[in-house]
Amino acid sequence: MSAPCVHYECAECGARVDVPSADGANPPSAVTCASCGAVRELAPADLADTGGLLGCRACGHPELYRRKAFPRALGIGIVVVAAVLAPFTNYLSLAAAALLDLVFFLTMPEEVVCYVCDAVHRGFPTTPKHPRFDREIDERLKYGKRAVMGRPMREGGTAGAPEPEH
Ligand SMILES: [Zn+2]
Ligand SMILES: [Zn+2]
Repeated sequence: MSAPCVHYECAECGARVDVPSADGANPPSAVTCASCGAVRELAPADLADTGGLLGCRACGHPELYRRKAFPRALGIGIVVVAAVLAPFTNYLSLAAAALLDLVFFLTMPEEVVCYVCDAVHRGFPTTPKHPRFDREIDERLKYGKRAVMGRPMREGGTAGAPEPEH
């Protein structure tokens, strides 16, 4: 597995900004966007003893979710090609596409994303583990106390939390 890395989307220009030495004990306190020069202050959360994530390495928020690092465009591209070929392949191309999607999905590495700032963390040790995306957490962070579904934050954030039931 490659070295742990963190990146986020620049709020000013949308370019991808990599956080240097994000897995080290002393990550930088600010990062400059190489495209537009916008400076973003960082407040990285501590790492667990395992080197795993206790919180976001960019903004420090303790709630993160896990997802497959599957490029959406690739998944859609496979389906489009399969649909175009379907009439010529007796629709076998659709079955092949489904299989291909499954293989990609199973072999694709996972990444961990911050609910608040969308910073993407890759290659960190998976202990503590962060559950998959939880709509309740997302709504509480977006709407605060007004969220109908809003439950208070679990102590310690999502590190080692159980998977959402829904
Ligand atoms: Zn920028
Ligand atoms: Zn964050």
